[in-house]
Amino acid sequence: MALRKILTYPAPELKQPAHAVQNIDAQINQLVTDLVESMYAAPGVGLAAPQVGSSERVIVLDIDHENPGKRLIKLINPVVVEREGSIVWEEGCLSVVDYTSEVTRSKRVLVRGWTPDQNEIEIEGEDLLAVALQHEIDHLEGKLFIDRISRLKRDLYKRKVKKWLREGVPLEAKKPAVSI
Ligand SMILES: [Zn+2]
Repeated sequence: MALRKILTYPAPELKQPAHAVQNIDAQINQLVTDLVESMYAAPGVGLAAPQVGSSERVIVLDIDHENPGKRLIKLINPVVVEREGSIVWEEGCLSVVDYTSEVTRSKRVLVRGWTPDQNEIEIEGEDLLAVALQHEIDHLEGKLFIDRISRLKRDLYKRKVKKWLREGVPLEAKKPAVSI
């Protein structure tokens, strides 16, 4: 078990776009394994490498926590190649403590990427899976869901976090119930 510490806003690593993986080697496979374990432990629906301070384009997702592993997705260098429709979803994030907000995204996406055993695959997702794929790929661009809400709402949240930090409130103790 290698649980990695999940960084939370305003950690600067979360704003850094991640690098494309050039070589799916043992180190990348270890990162994938750690991400999976950290995601289930959190628990979260997905986790992206920048959230644990790694600047690699790697994400993991599982929208079915009732049956862990059954619908587990591990993707390296994922790219959205098709998108369709629009959906509003109440999102949370392991890196954005104690906050959820409605975000508008594509309702269906087709994502292309690589598996840890070096096969190129396509994943089609609708509704929650589509939302989660887009949310995790955003992390690889250094983007959080709070970057997709209104400026007013975002500023209110930022002020709240600054206040917690000023008062020494431990952010780790605060977590949204459902986090992508
Ligand atoms: Zn997130």
